[in-house]
Amino acid sequence: MKQFDLIVVGSGVLGTFHAYHAAKKGKLVLLLEKDNQPMQATVRNFGQIVPSGMGKEWFQFGVRGTQIYNTIQAETDISIRNNGSVYIASDADEQQLIHELKKEMDTRGYQSILLSTSQCIDRWPALKSTYCKEGIFFPQEVSAEPNLLIHRLLQYCTSKFQNFVYQPGTPVVECSVTGSVSKVKTTFGKTYTAEKVIICNGGEFKLLFPELFERSGIVVSKLQMLQTLVMPEVEMEGNILTGLTIRRYESFQECPSYAKLQTPDHLAELKKWGIHLLFKKAIDGSIIIGDSHEYAASNEVERLGFGQNEYINQLMLAEAQRIVHFDVNKIASSWSGFYPQHNEKDIVEIDIEDRIHIRTAIGGKGMTTSAGYAEQSIAKLI
Ligand SMILES: Cc1cc2nc3c(=O)[nH]c(=O)nc-3n(C[C@H](O)[C@H](O)[C@H](O)COP(=O)(O)OP(=O)(O)OC[C@H]3O[C@@H](n4cnc5c(N)ncnc54)[C@H](O)[C@@H]3O)c2cc1C
Repeated sequence: MKQFDLIVVGSGVLGTFHAYHAAKKGKLVLLLEKDNQPMQATVRNFGQIVPSGMGKEWFQFGVRGTQIYNTIQAETDISIRNNGSVYIASDADEQQLIHELKKEMDTRGYQSILLSTSQCIDRWPALKSTYCKEGIFFPQEVSAEPNLLIHRLLQYCTSKFQNFVYQPGTPVVECSVTGSVSKVKTTFGKTYTAEKVIICNGGEFKLLFPELFERSGIVVSKLQMLQTLVMPEVEMEGNILTGLTIRRYESFQECPSYAKLQTPDHLAELKKWGIHLLFKKAIDGSIIIGDSHEYAASNEVERLGFGQNEYINQLMLAEAQRIVHFDVNKIASSWSGFYPQHNEKDIVEIDIEDRIHIRTAIGGKGMTTSAGYAEQSIAKLI
C-alpha cells in the first residue's frame, strides 16, 4: 500500500493550504474531504481578505496570505480582485480609532490612506454623506469569491503538483497512530497511511475525537448573510467595512482609545446580535451584505438552528439603509454560515503523539490568514 508523507483531513481553506504548502515542499500529500465538494464556512463567507482587521500577531499571516493569493492569481484566475478595503467612520469615536490605526499601520510600513467624506463619496458614490464622516483605505487588500475560490484552488493544486492527491466524497471516521505510522480510516472501510496527519475539520466535531472537542472550549458562531439582486449601477468595488466593524475588529481593539469606547443607544440592539455591516460587490454585480453573530458551545450547536432569524435580517437591512443610497431591500438570497472559534486562542492546535495534529477554530479570519498560517504550520510540523 502506498504511504503518503502527509494526509490532510478537510478541504476547507485551512486544510487545502496545509496540503498546498506540503506539496510545494515536495511531500506526497493526500487531501480527504467528506463531502463531494467543500460546502462549509469556506464557501459561505464574505470573501474579504483584510489583514487590516487582524490583531497584531495574526496581521503577518494576513499579509503573507495576500501575497500567496496574488502569486497564485498571477498563474491562474482563482477569483482574487485587488480593489482595496475601506473602513467608514460614522462618528467622532470611530474617527479617533481610524486615526490611531493609521498611526499603527504607518509604524508597520503597511500602506493606508485617510479619506474625507467627499473623497469617500467620489470613490464609492453609493455611500450616504449623512453616514460617512471619514474613511481609512487599504489599497493593497484583495477580495475573493467564496463560491469560486476553493474549487479553483483545488483544481490549481491538483494540476500543478503531481504529488497532490485530492479525494472528495470521503469522510474520515477514525484516525490512529501505530509506531511511526499514522492511519486514517474512511466510512468506506478503506485505510490510508502517512507519516503525519493534519486534521482541519472546521466545525465537524462528531466524526473524529468527539470527547476531545467536547472539552476543547470551542464555541460555534452562526452568521446571517444577505445578497441583493444584480445591481450593475451600484458603484461599490472592494471591501466596504463600516462603523460597527471599527467597533468590533481586533486591530481597532488594540488601539489606545478602544478601552473607553461607549456604545451609543442606536447601536445597542445591533451589538446585542453581533451585527456589523459589511458590503461587497460580487462579480455578477449583486451586493453581499453581512453579518450577525450568535454563539453556542460546540456540543450544543443544534441550538443555533439552520434557518434565518428574520428579525436579525431586518435589523441589518435597516442599518444598511442608513449607510447606502441603493435599495437594500431588493434581496435575492440569504444564508447562514457557521465557524468554530475559541474565546482565548486564535486557533486550536492539539497534537497527538507528534503524528496527528488538529488545527481548527481559526474563527472569522480564515479566508484572510489560512494561507499564511498554514505555511508556518507546515514549516513547523514537517
Ligand atoms: C458567513 C461567514 C463570513 C465570513 N467572512 C469572512 C471574511 O470575509 N474573511 C475572512 O477572513 N474569513 C471569513 N469567514 C471565516 C472563514 O470562512 C473561516 O475561517 C474559514 O472558511 C474556515 O476554514 P476551515 O477550512 O477551517 O473550515 P471549513 O470551511 O468548515 O472546512 C472544513 C472542511 O472539513 C471537512 N471535514 C470535516 N470533518 C471531516 C472528516 N471527518 N472527513 C473528511 N472531511 C471532513 C468539511 O466537510 C469541510 O469541508 C467567514 C465565515 C462565515 C461563516
